[in-house]
Amino acid sequence: MQIFKVGGAVRDRLLGKPVTDIDWVVVGATTEEMLAKGYRPVGADFPVFLHPKSGEEYALARTERKSGRGYGGFTFHASPEVTLEEDLIRRDLTINAMAEDDHGNLTDPYHGQRDLDARVLRHVSPAFAEDPLRVLRVARFAARYAELGFTVAPETLELMRQLSESGELEALTAERSWKEISRALMEDQPQVFIQVLRDCGALKVLMPEVDALFGVPQPEAHHPEIDTGVHTLSVLEQAARHQQPLTVRWACLLHDLGKGLTPKEEWPRHIAHEHKGLKLIKALNERFKAPRDCQELALLVGEYHTHGHRALELKASTLLELLQSFDVYRRPQRFEEFIIACEMDARGRKGLEQRSYPQADYLRGAATAARGIAVQPLLEKGFKGPGLGEAIKRERLKALKAYKEAAST
Ligand code: ATP
Ligand code: MG
Repeated sequence: MQIFKVGGAVRDRLLGKPVTDIDWVVVGATTEEMLAKGYRPVGADFPVFLHPKSGEEYALARTERKSGRGYGGFTFHASPEVTLEEDLIRRDLTINAMAEDDHGNLTDPYHGQRDLDARVLRHVSPAFAEDPLRVLRVARFAARYAELGFTVAPETLELMRQLSESGELEALTAERSWKEISRALMEDQPQVFIQVLRDCGALKVLMPEVDALFGVPQPEAHHPEIDTGVHTLSVLEQAARHQQPLTVRWACLLHDLGKGLTPKEEWPRHIAHEHKGLKLIKALNERFKAPRDCQELALLVGEYHTHGHRALELKASTLLELLQSFDVYRRPQRFEEFIIACEMDARGRKGLEQRSYPQADYLRGAATAARGIAVQPLLEKGFKGPGLGEAIKRERLKALKAYKEAAST
């Protein structure tokens, strides 16, 4: 048997990038031989094994054929006769279809090295169209390597467009899609991911609510970039630039969805878009089964981001309601993420990226003031049950009034 390093490890070494996980392909071996050498099978009927010591993935060279809709609709054929070239041709991109032996010799039948040098993301063969997940993968790699100048080859984008129009994208499971989306959002340039999906028509299928934002104008006085889609991409870009977590990035992407619902006659104003957007945010959350913290933050940011921007003008009672809505007393971190998302929203405007955002510290101060009230004296006064809750609320309101007063002098 022969063992080769494949995929990302080869690609990233040639790019001079750090290699984190290594995938291996094994040519000329049977399942029985692998088991005899102590490799552990990953799934019952999938020819992938884990190395007994390193835990890295070793896959038997295989060919694949599409036999039905979606990812389940694949039959594969692994046998000692399958060659390295036959295994590499089933892979998505030429830059992911190179192999290296343990002397560092490259096998590159589909010219991945040439495409690496030319900074092109190009599909290996027409079989690319057999797995719709590849549309998301290519967009993700575009986001990851945008900084290096990579773009999607026109003929690959065309295939992605055909896949998007074919209805195949709908066959993807929420789990597979979310895995790609969440990884793509954590890249350095996640806005490129959304842009590439839009360029090939996949965004309209996967996230029509986001796609609908392009071409929707906002008032130029607040939004020099005008277009809501462009603004959304900038907010996401800012979130990545400031290295924010996935929760914040997801919330940034979804915060303005309500603007896509505004009747044209009302443009460029978007009255109550915060509230109108909630059902769209909910739909997207559920479509991709986003993790709970992502779902929650996206809904809260959607509903309250305008409050964030107006923080300094809010009445003490409105501030209190805001803090209560976030349950800031038990969930301080979530409120902090909300503040950051608001700041990214403000910075995601053309020419205003560097402008300071005093609302952030003001909101932090308000949270501290409300959380700082002493409960013990209230208990000593004999408050309990709902009465205690009311008394605490009154104290918090008092504290917020004092905070507001002090901040304005
Ligand atoms: P990363 O750095 O994100 O891990 P990677 O290229 O190693 O990038 P993996 O998901 O680990 O990506 O997959 C390893 C290799 O398997 C890829 O380089 C590619 O050759 C192949 N591959 C993975 N998923 C697919 C797919 N859906 N279609 C075709 N080939 C795939
Ligand atoms: Mg990998």
